[in-house]
Amino acid sequence: MRIARRAVLFFKRIFTMEISSELPAGNIRVLDIRERTVLLEQEQRDSKNEWFYWKFKARFDEPGVWHFKFAQPYKIGTRGPAVSFDRGDNWEWRPDSSLSDAEFTFDCREPGEVWFCQGLPYLQRDWDRFTAEFAQNPAMRLSSLCKSRKGRNVELLELREGTPPLAAVLTARHHCQEMSASMVLEGALRHALADGEEARAFRRKVALHVVPFTDKDGVEEGDQGKGRLPRDHARDYDGSPIYPETAAVWKLIGKVKPFLVLDLHSPWIRGNHHEMPHLVENRNARFSPELDRFARLLEEAAPEYAPFSAADTLRWGTAWNTAANYDSRSVSGTGLNLTTACGAFSFVRLAVSLEIPFANFREKTMTEKEFLRFGEALGEAIGRYADMQA
Ligand SMILES: [Zn+2]
Repeated sequence: MRIARRAVLFFKRIFTMEISSELPAGNIRVLDIRERTVLLEQEQRDSKNEWFYWKFKARFDEPGVWHFKFAQPYKIGTRGPAVSFDRGDNWEWRPDSSLSDAEFTFDCREPGEVWFCQGLPYLQRDWDRFTAEFAQNPAMRLSSLCKSRKGRNVELLELREGTPPLAAVLTARHHCQEMSASMVLEGALRHALADGEEARAFRRKVALHVVPFTDKDGVEEGDQGKGRLPRDHARDYDGSPIYPETAAVWKLIGKVKPFLVLDLHSPWIRGNHHEMPHLVENRNARFSPELDRFARLLEEAAPEYAPFSAADTLRWGTAWNTAANYDSRSVSGTGLNLTTACGAFSFVRLAVSLEIPFANFREKTMTEKEFLRFGEALGEAIGRYADMQA
């Protein structure tokens, strides 16, 4: 199918190295190879605007330094490429290998297969590993939100003890390539699943309803997702959804009546507020004081090595966060994002998007473990925010 076709088109064997997009969520196009310099570009697929997700594997037959160069700028993040030497089980940043936002080197010490990605990946297999760890936990109920357009199961997780008085809906990957958001989501769930009184009190106070991969097909196939034509998943809440997942999320919200809707994202690849975690205010003015409360709780809960500042909230009407962002001149398809659309539900006290940078919180490089820990802090903030509800 699609994967196989790409593999034929972009599988090249030159000199002593092979590049392939045939790996989970693979995405790469080889434009040219000269000496030991490889010219690459990301596959845009059905995304209108130039974006920056890529992931490929390379097989090196002999030691040596290779240059990987993208045809366009802004393809490599602030901490270089993420690299895996064990076929995707573990990933590490390679900041020293980065020559610019479009070029990095790889010093192959011994022959073998190496995987490269723009960020630290998080796919269904990571989610499965996480949920398997808690399979015996009676508070966790796994089911299916719906089937994706391509027939994949779209996961729904419900986490509660008994019949809590409050519900919250947590979603991620409306933009499929926003990987760091998933690690933070997992951390928040680990907080709620932990042993001890605090977690038990959380589970009895709030039922979490979690959709970890909203654009399920895009996540698994390695699409850009952002600005997808004819419509971006995160602009599909204007009342006539075209995707089964967004229709099902909206239905879920109507059914469980959450006081909190939190939609996790990752921002642009580098620069300014893209390098600090932040909440995004939307046009629903009634959410703003609630957002400020929640932001302060998250600031207090965030660990020193993964700082979060309430003052970094991206206010409505600033930077990209304007009405123009919701018409077809920017992200594909006129329409509302989830948290803005939630203004229509009077039972929602706060609906807000949280942006998690791909690689660093200001000067602090983030590892997978630290994203998880920040997620635990997010869980703590959700618990404290629930405690504030009447
Ligand atoms: Zn996003």
